[in-house]
Amino acid sequence: MNSIVGNIGNASQLRSDAGPMMDPFGRAVTYLRVSVTDRCDFRCTYCMAEHMTFLPKKDLLTLEELNRLCSAFITKGVRKIRLTGGEPLVRKNIMFLVRELGKQVQDGALDELTLTTNGSQLARYADELYDCGVRRINVSLDTLDPDKFRTITRWGDFTKVMEGIDAAQKAGLKIKLNAVALKDFNETEIPDLMRFAHRRGMDLTVIETMPMGEIEEDRTDQYLPLSQLRADLERQFTLTDTAYQTGGPARYVEVAETGGRLGFITPMTHNFCESCNRVRLTCTGTLYMCLGQNDAADLRTALRATEDDALLHAAIDEAITRKPKGHDFIIDRTHNRPAVARHMSVTGG
Ligand code: SAM
Ligand code: SF4
Repeated sequence: MNSIVGNIGNASQLRSDAGPMMDPFGRAVTYLRVSVTDRCDFRCTYCMAEHMTFLPKKDLLTLEELNRLCSAFITKGVRKIRLTGGEPLVRKNIMFLVRELGKQVQDGALDELTLTTNGSQLARYADELYDCGVRRINVSLDTLDPDKFRTITRWGDFTKVMEGIDAAQKAGLKIKLNAVALKDFNETEIPDLMRFAHRRGMDLTVIETMPMGEIEEDRTDQYLPLSQLRADLERQFTLTDTAYQTGGPARYVEVAETGGRLGFITPMTHNFCESCNRVRLTCTGTLYMCLGQNDAADLRTALRATEDDALLHAAIDEAITRKPKGHDFIIDRTHNRPAVARHMSVTGG
């Protein structure tokens, strides 16, 4: 990991009108995903081991520090921030950060503040999220069967998540459901999940499992190529490709029978890196320029070195020069080790 401290020579741009940050491959970096905690109240089998070692609490940035970091990215041209984790809504006082960033949406400095959540705490926070300026959220839901839900999340309560979805819709939040496609677990359930989502006015996106972090299961047993899932769905539904985009890697189809939209995120079968516009910040101030690579930049040292943001801006600029072209994920029987050792919960999905 490189540190920029002591290398402030190449002047950083402190003006917000300097245009977006550009990486070496000509991609504008306008989207920041922030993992506000690596902790979670679930233990989804594809995401975490049952007994996880979490980051020491002392290494965590405070919410004030995370706000300062996010603000530096906004100054440098980031227009969209997604809070994720771990489970973002289990971080103590998280609404402080949501409110602070929400002000930047109200001021026009940010186009969108959103979050990805497992839904367990949504019933409690939905109204406040809306009040802070959040308008759209992603909720992860892999099955509609309460017993299977308990199996896949190990610790999750399906009823609470349903109450969370109800509360969020009632509060006016637009929801997109995310489901990880898992072989022999939910592949036959995707039509039901889709009908459920579309009936309630929600898009559904299915995601391929990515080889991140040690888990108890064998990832080759979990991995379901979405090309196969799509072929199965096409036997029952009429899927029409659309140009619809949410600024992310999902490719959408319209489903004639339900009148809703279905997204496919295919990091494994189709490399989605060429249009990547994002970087990922962890709760300890480490910036990953790619979800699927180990290279990272330490922003915490620059953040804490001075109250002035010049060093921090220089550190961000330097990090962006290292954004790689793409990831090297492979899942097959000859690759038994995860492509990256850290779990998805550290970098945020
Ligand atoms: N706890 C929140 C949640 O579950 O929505 C936010 C964090 S979670 C890491 C973000 C997303 O990453 C979830 O939709 C989850 O299903 C997905 N995810 C976790 N591990 C994954 C993996 N190994 N491959 C693909 N997606 C994964
Ligand atoms: Fe927690 Fe989300 Fe990972 Fe499930 S996918 S263990 S809810 S961080």
